[in-house]
Amino acid sequence: MSGGGGASAGAIETDALVIGAGPVGLFQVFQLGLQDLRCHVVDVLSQPGGQCAELYPAKPIYDIPALPVCSGTELVERLLQQVAPFDPVLHLGQEVESLAPRADGRFDIGTSAGTQFIARAVFIAAGVGAFSPRRLKLPGLDTLAASCVSHQAPDVSACQGQTVLVHGGDDRALDWACRLAEHGVAVSLLYRRDVYPAAPEQVRRLELLASQGRVTRRVGQPTQARADAAGQLTGVDHLDPSGQTHHEPATRLFVSLGLSPRLGPLSSWGLQMERKLLDVEPSRFETSLPGVYAVGDINSYPGKLKLIVCGFHEATLAAWAAAHRLRPDAPHHLEYTTSSARLQRLLGVLPRGAE
Ligand SMILES: Cc1cc2nc3c(=O)[nH]c(=O)nc-3n(C[C@H](O)[C@H](O)[C@H](O)COP(=O)(O)OP(=O)(O)OC[C@H]3O[C@@H](n4cnc5c(N)ncnc54)[C@H](O)[C@@H]3O)c2cc1C
Repeated sequence: MSGGGGASAGAIETDALVIGAGPVGLFQVFQLGLQDLRCHVVDVLSQPGGQCAELYPAKPIYDIPALPVCSGTELVERLLQQVAPFDPVLHLGQEVESLAPRADGRFDIGTSAGTQFIARAVFIAAGVGAFSPRRLKLPGLDTLAASCVSHQAPDVSACQGQTVLVHGGDDRALDWACRLAEHGVAVSLLYRRDVYPAAPEQVRRLELLASQGRVTRRVGQPTQARADAAGQLTGVDHLDPSGQTHHEPATRLFVSLGLSPRLGPLSSWGLQMERKLLDVEPSRFETSLPGVYAVGDINSYPGKLKLIVCGFHEATLAAWAAAHRLRPDAPHHLEYTTSSARLQRLLGVLPRGAE
């Protein structure tokens, strides 16, 4: 990408661009807010929360300070609540593809959706990389109309009147099947085993709905997608554990076979890396490119632990470092949220202009 000094037409100008809306990216927004730096956040996923939301939404976390136990979903909800006063703009469902320094000291950033940003500082909170769903490979799938098959969460209202088959056994698959059933959609769940690698609450929810006849459970491996002449899905053949083939009628297929992270374009941005992690200096969490910071699971430094609490610490120091860099002449002294009227105004606890 070019490094021009003028603003590109249509580009969004911002103090900070946060890449990744996982727990650390969200806390980064909070810490930048306390530094009075405004943020835009980009994530390739359709919802915020990173690994917590995608890999273990219902599992308990026990090592978040002052929260003896909370689920992945609850942690994300609390973080979103905490950043709300700073009104960050979330750009979901798009991958950051390019990052390049500009002649004016800012950065050009571009996404897969064509969104362009010009940011004064960039915070890479990309975790283990951009998640993408593992794709189902099945004869007959390629010839289907695109609307019949999805690897993303179903839109419940668009599924009304459809016969839905969910394929998978993880938290996401069970949640999709249950949500559809709870909204009156005819739904079956197909998984290769009758034991699900999902949180006990999700399994209980499924069992209840199944006992009420609102979800049909099938055990087997899909072998063939069937379609009519117009390419509309009519059903899926599957092989049960005893080797018998069955046909499950369906007009919509939703697949959840897990997510695989991939580092993606990040590795081509010219930042110093080692073993797919970004090298940072651990007092500022700055990468080899000044003004670009890396926090959370994506970074590496001596003693690094891939824990959420460590990412929160990194985000705090990175925000301070960025504020120093962007406002070198401003006084920088530690203030407490308990007693600083300035911070409380930023948090919206005191009205702006109040002493
Ligand atoms: C099963 C499991 C249980 C865990 N339990 C605990 C626990 O109990 N306690 C604990 O502290 N930690 C736990 N962890 C680890 C914890 O989840 C991670 O340390 C944490 O999620 C890291 O947060 P992050 O924001 O750095 O990255 P992530 O949560 O990985 O989020 C990164 C986000 O960046 C996005 N992204 C990446 N590249 C791009 C790009 N180019 N463009 C746009 N978006 C991009 C991804 O889609 C993702 O949403 C657990 C992990 C797993 C898998």
